[in-house]
Amino acid sequence: MLTINYTYRIYPTAEQQALMLEWLETCRHLYNRCLRDLKDWIASRKCSLDSCSLNREYIMSPDLPFPSYLEQKRQLTQWKKEDPRYKDVHSQVTQDVVKRLHNTWEAFKNRGFGFPRYKKYGRYQSFLFPQFKENPIAGNQIKLPKIGKVTINCHRPIPEGFKVKGVRIVARARGTIWYAVVTIQSDVNVPDPLPFGRGIGIDIGLEWFLVTSDNFRVGPAQFFRELQSRLKVLQRRASRKVKRSKNWEKAQLKVARLHHQIANTRKNFHFQTSHLLCDMADMIFVEDINFKMTSSGFLGKQMLDGGFGQFRDLLSWVCWKRGKYFAQVDHKYTSQICPECGTHTGKKELQERVHVCDECGYQTTRDHASGRVILQRGLSNVVPMDCREGKLPSNGVLSGVLYLDKCRSRNVNSRGLEASILSVG
Ligand SMILES: [Zn+2]
Repeated sequence: MLTINYTYRIYPTAEQQALMLEWLETCRHLYNRCLRDLKDWIASRKCSLDSCSLNREYIMSPDLPFPSYLEQKRQLTQWKKEDPRYKDVHSQVTQDVVKRLHNTWEAFKNRGFGFPRYKKYGRYQSFLFPQFKENPIAGNQIKLPKIGKVTINCHRPIPEGFKVKGVRIVARARGTIWYAVVTIQSDVNVPDPLPFGRGIGIDIGLEWFLVTSDNFRVGPAQFFRELQSRLKVLQRRASRKVKRSKNWEKAQLKVARLHHQIANTRKNFHFQTSHLLCDMADMIFVEDINFKMTSSGFLGKQMLDGGFGQFRDLLSWVCWKRGKYFAQVDHKYTSQICPECGTHTGKKELQERVHVCDECGYQTTRDHASGRVILQRGLSNVVPMDCREGKLPSNGVLSGVLYLDKCRSRNVNSRGLEASILSVG
């Protein structure tokens, strides 16, 4: 079973837009209501040993069932009778809201952090139609239950053999830009790409966005610096307006739209970089750093700006699509081991940008060294297909090299990236 999401821009009319915003608000209300019941239930069951709080105990009858997904879904029918608002929204959409809460709840139980939170006004930005009998897209229109036909920019047709499973409607930039994320499914089984051919290791960082084991560099992640400074100006302007006034609304909208633009620019950059890397190699290895944890440190803001986690996800997806092998390797000590002789060179401070090995005298930049270590780790975990057949590993001598020689000479930044793709292709 193969499931893919395709995202399309949609252009609802003013009425449709108002209706969908109303739905979002109802869904948010429902989500918070379910969460409140869940929280109340938990609160009513817990009682600290030394101080049994009187006002907490027995607010609820002790044999009230736990508000599970099924239980709350059952209650939903009752709530619909009491509150007509819930009935205006498509029933499967409301059911999915309950499910969404319980997914978050399950995730919280499994991981131990991230207790579901109440959604503030405007923070509930999407709803899902979980089922479709037939393809809702015809020409430049998508047919949504209860909302009607919405104009869609179907820039890429749904491939043959795929069925539309669900459609998620997403509001961006304070409900002025809309998307339909169409989940399509096919029975075909596509095997994951097997390791073969030429491998590269990738070190992701701040000084350079990434450095490969071949010392190929992609510029630092501050590529949208210009956009960022414009954002600052807009944010400052917005903060001076009287809250909730008309001008404040307008200024907020400008900020939101710019945020949206930055996110898109970043994603585009990540896609282009991923494809570039796939042009260069058949196996790609990256570190398994938890970027979320790292970003809580003093480098936090910049780490998040780079969107490294998103980049890694996109890279693995692009690799899969292009039949390239992708794997994550252990990140421990990648910057401390000498790729030439394997000696532990000791901890490097962050500002130390060079790798010098006392043992064998190998010198290179810090990120290049860890790129090479990542590659070696990756290769030690896999048996490339061409080795299984008794051939020598082709690492470093085959496919990607010619291409690489062409781009190696120049160091690419986000602007130059497109140019270099063009000039090589
Ligand atoms: Zn060494």
